[in-house]
This record gives sequence, C-alpha cells and structure tokens, in this order.
Amino acid sequence: MPEHTFDLVVAGSGLAGQVAATAASEAGLNVVLLEKTANLGGSSAMSGGYFAFSGTEEQAAQNVGDSAELFRRDLLESGRHRNDPALLDAYLAHQDSTYRWLKDHGVTFRALELSSGQSVPRSHNSAIKDVLALLHKTFTARGGETRTGHRAVRLVRNENGTVTGVVTENGDGEHLFTGRAGIVLATGGFSRGVDLLRTFAPEQLAAIPYGGKGNTGDGLKMAWKLGAGMADMASVSGTYGSHPDTGEEFHELLTAYYLGAIIVNTHGKRFTDESQSYKVLGREVLNQPEGLGFEVFDAKVRTQSEPGIPLNDIDLLEDLGHVFKADSLEELADAAGIAKAGLIETVRRYNAAIDGLRPDDVGRTSLCNGVGEPARIDEPPFYAYPAKSLLTSTFSGVTITPAGQVTDVDGGIIDGLYAIGEVTGGFHGAAYITGTSLGKAAVFGRIVAEHAAARLGEDTNVA
Ligand SMILES: Cc1cc2nc3c(=O)[nH]c(=O)nc-3n(C[C@H](O)[C@H](O)[C@H](O)COP(=O)(O)OP(=O)(O)OC[C@H]3O[C@@H](n4cnc5c(N)ncnc54)[C@H](O)[C@@H]3O)c2cc1C
Repeated sequence: MPEHTFDLVVAGSGLAGQVAATAASEAGLNVVLLEKTANLGGSSAMSGGYFAFSGTEEQAAQNVGDSAELFRRDLLESGRHRNDPALLDAYLAHQDSTYRWLKDHGVTFRALELSSGQSVPRSHNSAIKDVLALLHKTFTARGGETRTGHRAVRLVRNENGTVTGVVTENGDGEHLFTGRAGIVLATGGFSRGVDLLRTFAPEQLAAIPYGGKGNTGDGLKMAWKLGAGMADMASVSGTYGSHPDTGEEFHELLTAYYLGAIIVNTHGKRFTDESQSYKVLGREVLNQPEGLGFEVFDAKVRTQSEPGIPLNDIDLLEDLGHVFKADSLEELADAAGIAKAGLIETVRRYNAAIDGLRPDDVGRTSLCNGVGEPARIDEPPFYAYPAKSLLTSTFSGVTITPAGQVTDVDGGIIDGLYAIGEVTGGFHGAAYITGTSLGKAAVFGRIVAEHAAARLGEDTNVA
C-alpha cells in the first residue's frame, strides 16, 4: 500500500480540521488534511456560522456585559452540570486568543445575537463558508496538502500502542498516512450514521436527518475500536425549528419562539416551555403528533425579522411560502391545519397569563433562557410556521483531555491520537448552547495544533 509521511495527519475538513491543520502548518508542521467526500467543509460549511465567545469587541460595542464566569455558568446550566469542567476551563482560557486568531485571519463577525442557552447575547455570526475558505487559503499557502475522496478507515499503532498512522481508502485502494506528531480525528458527528443512532439515540431517527453527508461517525468508530471512552451519548437531540421540507441546499431554521412566538401541536396545544434550549424543544417535539410543532406569532414578532441572518429571517421563509399568514386566529388555524378551537383557547390562556390573570400553561417566564419579557399574541396579522426537529449534529462522542488527546474507557491517554470538534463528547453535557460547537472546533483545533507541535519538538514520537 502507498505510504505517505507527514508531521501531522488531520482527518476531516470541517472547521475543527481546518483550524488544526492551518494552525499546525503555521507552527511549521508538514500537514495533510484528509477528506472523505469530494468537498471540504462538512457540517461546518452548512452551519449558521455562530461562534460563542464572551468578552468580545462586538459585545462591548453593544454594551453587553459578559464574562468567562457567566459563560461557564450558562454552559453548566444548559449541560445540567454533566459537562467535563476541565474542557470548559480549556475553552474559556483559550476563547479570547482563538477569537483574535480568527480575526487575524480575516474573519469578521457581522451580527451579535441572544440565542439558545445564553443569558446575554453571545452568538457572533460569521459568513462561515468565507471563514473556511480563508483558513484553507492560509493552510495551502503554508504548504499544507489536501486530499479529498480519502476516507480514513482504520488507525495504526506501533508496538508501544502509540497511534502512528491512519489508513485511508480512495478510488485507487488503500493508502497509509503516517503522522510523526500524531493523528487528529476531526471527522464530525454521526447525524448521518443510522447504525450509531440506532444504538445510542434511536428516537432521533424520527428527526429530519441533516448535517454533512460524510458525518456517519467514522472517527468515533475508529477510536472506539482502540478502546476510547465516550461521553454525552444519551444527550443527542435534534434542533427544533425547521420546516418539514427543509432540503440539503438551504439550512432552514426559525427561532421565532425566542422573539415571542408560542409553539403548538396540531391540536393547538402548547407542550413545553418555549424559552428552553432548542435542543430540548427538539426532543419534546418528537413526542407530538407527526413530530410537528407550529411557531405561532403576531405582527409584533414579525417586525423583528432580520433578513440575511440565520434563525431570525422570517422574510425569507415567507418568500419561500413556508409561513402561514391570516388576519384572525380562526383563519390561521384553518390555513395551517391546526385545530381551531384548541388554538384560540391556547392563545386566550397565554394572553391571560401575560396579563397576570393565571399561571402560564407550560411555566414560561421569559423569551429565551430567563431573558426577555413574553408579550401578548394579539396584533394581526397572525402567523404560523410548521416545524420539526432537524438532526443537525450529535454533540457527543469520544472522551478527550483538555489538550485534545483521546482517552480510553479508563481515562488513560491513547498516545498519538487527538480528537477535536463534533466527534468529541464531554464538553456540552446535556445540551448545547448556540455557537459553542463552532467555538469548540476552533478552540480545540488550535490547542491540538500547539500540542502536536510541542510533541514533535520533544521528539517523543515514533514513526
Ligand atoms: C445546519 C446546521 C447549522 C449549525 N449551526 C451552528 C452554528 O451556528 N454554530 C455552532 O456552533 N454550531 C452549529 N452547528 C453545528 C456545527 O456546525 C458542527 O457541530 C461543527 O461544524 C462540527 O465541526 P467539525 O469540524 O467537528 O465537523 P464537520 O464540519 O462536520 O466536518 C467533519 C468532516 O469530516 C469528514 N469525514 C467524516 N468521516 C471521515 C473519514 N472517515 N475520513 C475523512 N474525512 C471524514 C466529513 O465528510 C466532514 O467534511 C450547525 C450544524 C448544522 C448542520
């Protein structure tokens, strides 16, 4: 089999892989980036482009008071304290340098939003395809090599148990790629991995499958075969808020519930507190008839649409014909296929709760995660957006140290093997806060590059 030797081998070309590859090549390492599919970018390229960082220039410009401590509290609350605190520490300690590194590479953040799991606006929106293109340009200019159509299929260890290489398959057969400083798994999650979903999260098979085409969990399986530990596997959940016809070409997601919409099922009944994480909502909606929930709102919410900004662009969804609109709730119910009497009674009770006349049916007290005042739904026209859970990502996987080294089921380091990005578990715990996945990909991508460069410098490896 043909053999190729590099300082560092990175499998997977989403944000995690590209940051690690770029940062390692900038540190002087000879790096190869392997991608299974014909195209670079994975789920990262399909994503909304939100990065979660605290203490940024964008927050300061909008007088948003934030801190690493507040961010940590939100991460722990969303994660129900099941997160690995050492990984949170690593993220929070490196977020500022990563944010600056991205900016130094030409990344700009065009909007700052309050989103799922955040107690202050912390989602920094980027044009993610441009981010990936900027990084890949730098990587290539630094002499980095990219091989598409190369699927990593198994890891190779030496007699000491150190991982020294990875075998790939392409159209020509098998190739061995040896990494003197190590092998990095950046192969993404398993939102397309039906076998893994069946094992770890069978209920999620009812969600709309999404995410990068190559995200079948290959990296997780390769590491598992070497005894890697796993974390957060029971927390896999889709994201609530995508139209049933959501296709590959356009990521359609509306979070009008964080602007004041309620969510009702086909009976017109609310079924959960809409201010919770959209991952929690994604789990709840699977239990509703047809797995369907309607975001119902009025003209006040409609005016908050932000054209061009993912999650808040109601204008675009209306243009696509995906939003029902009517002058009365009765007409809206008829148009959308919601039980009329149920919807009218639900809105009456909701408005009465806002007026302080009765408790809220689902215990809602805020717009999003404790922030913002819900308002009455009473100003025509009225709108309904039918939405399901979209399995964008899995946010669980192999256990790692804060340096990105894969650990086995007993917590011992699997020497020579790194994992970053969505293939890893332990960071999010029970649920994910918007922007922390791209954030995690970038932060740990840089950490691993630095660690691998130091490892090569110490000449601790093998090859
Ligand atoms: C529609 C959508 C919107 C999202 N929005 C956001 C957001 O705004 N903010 C946020 O933080 N997160 C968001 N997420 C989640 C986030 O995009 C992902 O979790 C993150 O991009 C994962 O990055 P990654 O580099 O680990 O994996 P990916 O970007 O998925 O890249 C993994 C790559 O590895 C390749 N690969 C897989 N197996 C192999 C193999 N055997 N050999 C070689 N290559 C392989 C895949 O083909 C893929 O290209 C969103 C996800 C989706 C789908």
